[in-house]
Amino acid sequence: MTTIQEGLTKDANVVLLTLDGVRYQEFFDKKIFTRYWNSYASKGIVIGDPDQKSKVKVSNLMVLSLPGYRSMHLGSRSFCYSNNCGNVKRQTVGEKVLEQLSLASEKVAIISSWSMVCKAGMQKESKLFNSCGDRPVESNGHDEINTQQAGDHPTKWSGRFDKYTFAHGIKYLEQKKPRFMHLSLLDSDEHAHDDNWKGYLNSLKAYDLYIDRLFKKLLELGEYGKRTTVIITTDHGRGKGKKWTGHTLSPAAAKIFMAFHGPDIPNKGSVSHKKKITHLHLRPLIELILGLKKIKGRHRLSDLVFE
Ligand SMILES: [Zn+2]
Repeated sequence: MTTIQEGLTKDANVVLLTLDGVRYQEFFDKKIFTRYWNSYASKGIVIGDPDQKSKVKVSNLMVLSLPGYRSMHLGSRSFCYSNNCGNVKRQTVGEKVLEQLSLASEKVAIISSWSMVCKAGMQKESKLFNSCGDRPVESNGHDEINTQQAGDHPTKWSGRFDKYTFAHGIKYLEQKKPRFMHLSLLDSDEHAHDDNWKGYLNSLKAYDLYIDRLFKKLLELGEYGKRTTVIITTDHGRGKGKKWTGHTLSPAAAKIFMAFHGPDIPNKGSVSHKKKITHLHLRPLIELILGLKKIKGRHRLSDLVFE
């Protein structure tokens, strides 16, 4: 009997793209994520569509950002009920990739607009490449973006504007061809907390463009791009109606979306499924795709994606 893993692409890569606090209501709106739904959605698997009776949720009771990012990187719940928890204290998915595949540290990267994402994806003494928050990316080829971002900081929140984070991420893909990269965007959540619907919508339209650019860049990168799986999701949704600005402890905001695209992912588009999927199911899938051994956690998502 062959296992799923034996049939998967060898020397695979994963890019995890997170869009902070984007509701499924907007993600599934073809007038907002137009490029994505026109050109890409059918070439992968998308879950979380209420019309498909697809249940996808965060796994933390607080429905907060940092606990959400921690569950993606740890594949398990952790004792973190605020956005101020320090670094995680167990090996994260990126750290395991570095260790098991004996890679140079630059082959696993976290590039994030929000500073705290690095605390979710790394223990204190972590070796993986990282640039979280409004600071330069210390790597060859990033000088021009570093100079631009140095003169252009968000004033309403602390972090780096997504346009720079995204530009760094694309540059990093080109230069270093990471095996695993978490590219994490934030503007959407900040505009929403600020009750700025227009700002929120503009961020989402930019994300739609970024997703298009990411797929085009992977095409340009030839064999590397062909072996790369892209996972798109969010750390939490948002409340309904007037409560759209917030998300903490909101059952409505616990509902999220996930999208998967890559050489081993069937072309099904938005699918229905019975079992509940959460952030905790992401890590086992990432490990499986990357060919890691001793995969912990439940394989529910892998069964759904590869069935
Ligand atoms: Zn968030």
